[in-house]
Amino acid sequence: MIGDMYPPGAGGWIEVICGVMFSGKSEELIRRVRRALIARKRVQVFKSHLDERYAGLYHVSSHDGRTVEAEPVDSPEQIARGLRGDTQVVAIDEAQFLQPGIVALATSLASSGRRVILAGADTDFRGEPFGPMPQLLAVAEQVDKLHAICVLCGNPASRNQRLIAGRPARYDSPTIMVGGEESYEARCRSCHSVPLKDEDQGMLIV
Ligand code: ADP
Ligand code: ZN
Repeated sequence: MIGDMYPPGAGGWIEVICGVMFSGKSEELIRRVRRALIARKRVQVFKSHLDERYAGLYHVSSHDGRTVEAEPVDSPEQIARGLRGDTQVVAIDEAQFLQPGIVALATSLASSGRRVILAGADTDFRGEPFGPMPQLLAVAEQVDKLHAICVLCGNPASRNQRLIAGRPARYDSPTIMVGGEESYEARCRSCHSVPLKDEDQGMLIV
């Protein structure tokens, strides 16, 4: 069963929600934020690389009318600066894009008694560990790894398939692409394709 293990009076705590794109990380983060609001906690939500698609999604409301919006951030320092002294729950989405300093920040927030909830992709389009996620998984008290559905075969998906002009992106393309030319699909390990890593695809021109 996912989440909400946080016991009252236990002090600080780090939870990580990880998995591929479309696995429901943001949905789960929002569910936890909503329940924290119901519990009348003071909550702040941050999101790295805020993008237009999510503009409406991040108005999290509780039934008693309190609302929380995600604050867009580019760095762990910006989170630290934006933090209010009385905040009890800190939720951070798209944590894979943040610099390594997010690990020390999450640790110090938990040490100061806060509940820290981080959501992020644990692997990049190559299927390799993404940014600070391995360290965050290691220092967290609780980790949930979610899966999407493989769009090719219907099995649980654990990989992000990057496509450029409809074809699998090469292994040597950048981890974070600027410009939005690419698209992504959720795929399982056996349907996931990364040309140039697979020897037989060395000739592929993308
Ligand atoms: P994440 O934050 O992990 O990218 P979201 O919470 O934004 O995920 O989106 C999860 C939603 O995406 C699911 O509830 C489902 O409606 C939708 N979805 C689209 N494609 C898929 C897929 N291949 N597998 C599972 N869910 C998918
Ligand atoms: Zn598959």
